[in-house]
Amino acid sequence: MNITNPKYPGISVETGYDNANPQDAGMVRVDEDGVYAVRQFLEDNAPAGYSFHLNLALNNSGAKPAKVPLRIFWAESNYDYCRDYMYIGYDAGQAWRMLATQAAQGVTEMQIVVPPGRHLLCCHPKFDVGDYLALLDRFGGTAPFERIVAARSAENRVIACLRCGNPAGRKLVVTTRAHGYETAGAYCLAGWFAYAAAQPDRVAEIMNQLNLYFFPMINVDAVAHGNCCLAPTGVNFGRELAVRGGEDAGARGLVDFIDGLQPEFYLDMHNNTGPHLSDAFRSDDAGLLAAFAARAPDRSRDQKVWGAGQVKWDEGSILTACRRQFNTLPMLTEFPWYARAPGDMAEHGREFFNTLLPLLADWQV
Ligand SMILES: [Zn+2]
Repeated sequence: MNITNPKYPGISVETGYDNANPQDAGMVRVDEDGVYAVRQFLEDNAPAGYSFHLNLALNNSGAKPAKVPLRIFWAESNYDYCRDYMYIGYDAGQAWRMLATQAAQGVTEMQIVVPPGRHLLCCHPKFDVGDYLALLDRFGGTAPFERIVAARSAENRVIACLRCGNPAGRKLVVTTRAHGYETAGAYCLAGWFAYAAAQPDRVAEIMNQLNLYFFPMINVDAVAHGNCCLAPTGVNFGRELAVRGGEDAGARGLVDFIDGLQPEFYLDMHNNTGPHLSDAFRSDDAGLLAAFAARAPDRSRDQKVWGAGQVKWDEGSILTACRRQFNTLPMLTEFPWYARAPGDMAEHGREFFNTLLPLLADWQV
């Protein structure tokens, strides 16, 4: 759906596609001054702290660039201080740039230069269902990875992982994208997958000791709908998988699959939106945190420092449930996008996993 603008011939704002937020073209209007007024969508009952997803396409069918005014109405205003940046993906996401923005009283005013072509305006560089399926295809049939379909979502989308390593080794489950806007984890995984596929000697020791299950997108229905936090069934995959799985077929199938593994280790990857300086690595094992902090790669080039810290797990989280049932060692990351392009996040993921995985291979649970 393209919303044209009488003041700017050839320009349109597009919504309604996979992962767009808002999905509803009625939430994008053009006022009498030619300003695009965009209402962000936050699903009912989602906590305000998740109101960060925005994903629109800007089209220019003309031959010259045009400077277009936008006014974005966020679903809430308490987190304005975190909304001081956005990303534009030129040429349908081929080249990403961070934009410095400001929000006040829940509104971001911006003028954006739209070159000829189709470009994406996002809170975080997009990683949609199509990107997820392409990632599974790219690595799913390539050594050392095999693709395993763990479950089908409530709307019948695939919830799949890429497995690698020694089937008799200790198991690590890695999940990302419990929440709709948090795309960092998938880029991190893609970075490490490319490394592991290209340099098998470098990962041979890890592969010999660990049995690795990587899930690049667990809340796939939420992503498709452009939701900020919750699955369309209302379940928060980050905090409620263990207690509300019965309300969502995808959640139920995923929990059953993970319970069947009885993993020794579980890492859930999120991405914080602000403050932007800390790459958080969390566990409740003080020894692991100290060992990680001692080896963690320098991230100052990304304007980040490591924040390794203890955490109180959500009661309904699958991390809590696994810890209780199987004595699983739980871990969680929150990697912010700010000042990073997709290539930076892929490199960050490669270095993060190359730090963590050797530690876990030797770790005494
Ligand atoms: Zn999250």
